[in-house]
Amino acid sequence: MKGANVPPSRAPDYRKKFEYIKRSEMTPEELEEIRAYMRNWQKTRLAGETVEQRAARLATKRRYRATAKAKATERACRAKYDARPGGLEARRIQSFKVHHGVSRSFADAKIKKQRGKCLICRKPPDGRGNCSRLHVDHDPVTGEFRGMLCHRCNRGMGFFRHDPKALRAAAAYLERS
Ligand SMILES: [Zn+2]
Repeated sequence: MKGANVPPSRAPDYRKKFEYIKRSEMTPEELEEIRAYMRNWQKTRLAGETVEQRAARLATKRRYRATAKAKATERACRAKYDARPGGLEARRIQSFKVHHGVSRSFADAKIKKQRGKCLICRKPPDGRGNCSRLHVDHDPVTGEFRGMLCHRCNRGMGFFRHDPKALRAAAAYLERS
């Protein structure tokens, strides 16, 4: 994003301003100021990147994240986060959104609307593991949410390449044999 009013070259000056203040001693306004600056700094820096620079930066990040040290840090951070009241639940909710593209509450509302039943076979999930819940189904091309399906129906769609023609042909095949 362009139009950031703090050029990257000003970063050292800015750091100097807060150099001798501990975070714990900053006023909420100062904390917000430093956070806003860091956000802006990130944006300005990333906006000026070339494709190669971006690739190099991401590669460095990947290499670092693969080290034992980085993994230990990540585990420690996660454990700390999870230990807070509601932390684990909050992370699960966030991770659901990242993996499925819709929020947990959106999915739950849809399940309720479908009376807990799969939109294709009209049965409630009654198995174990993956078969114990309904899954978020998307159009693989547009990424648009379609509905909540049981594990079998959801996988079935995928195996038939989300192709109605193939599915109809399969039904006809079953009926004539
Ligand atoms: Zn089903």
